[in-house]
Amino acid sequence: MDCLEFLQTTIAKKELPTYVYGYPSKRAYRAFRQPLRITDVAEQASRSKQINIYIHIPFCRYRCTYCTLFLTTRHRQASRESYVARLVELVGRYGEYFGDREVVSIYFGGGSPTLLTQHQFGELFVALDAAFPKRNPRCEITVESAPDSFDNNLLDCLKVLGVNRMSMGIQSMEPGELAHSGRPYSVETAKAAIEALIERFSHVNLDLIYGLRGQTRDSWILSLCRVLDYAPQTISLYPVVVRPMTSIITSKAHNPELFFSEAEKYEVYDQNVALMASKGYRQESFTRFTKIAGDQAYRQEVSDFEGTPLLGLGAGARSYFGQYHYSTDYAVNWSAASPIIDAFSARPFDPHAIASHGIRLTQEDLARRYVLLGLTLSALSRKNYAAVFGRALAADFCEELEALERLQLVDLADGDTYQLTHTGFKYSSIMARIFYSGTIVALEEQYQAA
Ligand code: SF4
Repeated sequence: MDCLEFLQTTIAKKELPTYVYGYPSKRAYRAFRQPLRITDVAEQASRSKQINIYIHIPFCRYRCTYCTLFLTTRHRQASRESYVARLVELVGRYGEYFGDREVVSIYFGGGSPTLLTQHQFGELFVALDAAFPKRNPRCEITVESAPDSFDNNLLDCLKVLGVNRMSMGIQSMEPGELAHSGRPYSVETAKAAIEALIERFSHVNLDLIYGLRGQTRDSWILSLCRVLDYAPQTISLYPVVVRPMTSIITSKAHNPELFFSEAEKYEVYDQNVALMASKGYRQESFTRFTKIAGDQAYRQEVSDFEGTPLLGLGAGARSYFGQYHYSTDYAVNWSAASPIIDAFSARPFDPHAIASHGIRLTQEDLARRYVLLGLTLSALSRKNYAAVFGRALAADFCEELEALERLQLVDLADGDTYQLTHTGFKYSSIMARIFYSGTIVALEEQYQAA
């Protein structure tokens, strides 16, 4: 099936594949034949004077029914302390190699990073300031959180430490939906948490999920409107993804009538786009809507697209250094995730073996990644592509781009930059699939989740 036919058929069937925000996914990673050395990645990063940092905190109080992120709910104070101690050591050691770079962004993701204490955040920031002293004046420092995972003292501390962007998973503002999602807190807790963030931080992103068990079109709009009342700078709206190894998959198998169909999710999406525009939000991607004027709402993503290396620290954190994408091993099930986290905490830095698991991308896959991310960000420039890859974009992706233009999924602004149209945003998850190479498709399909 050619690209045009694939797009036409999949769009007509109203299929909604998992939202693609990177390429390739971790499912394409495998054990390296030889462990990766720090010199391998340093060589890849030699042309960049900047760096992004991602720190993974894989601890949550509970696992939400739909969540497949890399985390454990079985952790104690001692295990969190030894995990943070290892992170502090790694920050220092990587600073010896990359500490002369200007830091564009730092992102604490999880899990629920706000389960760490003020003291633990303090230790991490002291290490970061010492090892990576050069900060871009607009350095974006984000911490992810869950509504019942922090108190106001912690937020005050984060603000003093320089955090300027908070992201929180709200998912729903309806008590039954929260309960069915495995979130054991009240709507009042969620409201208080939103107020606490809005009061303190100039950029707050709130996540909501549509298609949760038992959700109706009305209850969804009610949740969204309740969140809009707080006017956060950014709101991210995700269709629920029902993946293997989650409890929601069993729930859906028993009661499919309690879930939106794919076609209904697209209808809700259309409603969301109209509502968000009416409230003054600009659409940045399939999921993200922002009021931030003149800038992207998630700089780490933009900087990654522009070729800045991403140093991932922590169990499950991904790193991107040119051709090398790597992480620790990966698992969903707690019984497989916990030993990986323990091994991370116990293993000192070894410059001759910084990672054993990942992928070395070919030049072709780097080009595919560039095009896919560029389209997602509405920033795919012909000129920039030619400057990066030394070839014409139209020559490398002639069939794909012709298909996208023919279906009016993209516009060619100013004769140079491809931007998604309204229809392009809507079908961006389908569109992304035409840029996957056969190798990556095969690796992802063969992946056996633990
Ligand atoms: S709080 Fe967030 S990271 Fe933790 S289990 Fe729920 S969705 Fe996953």
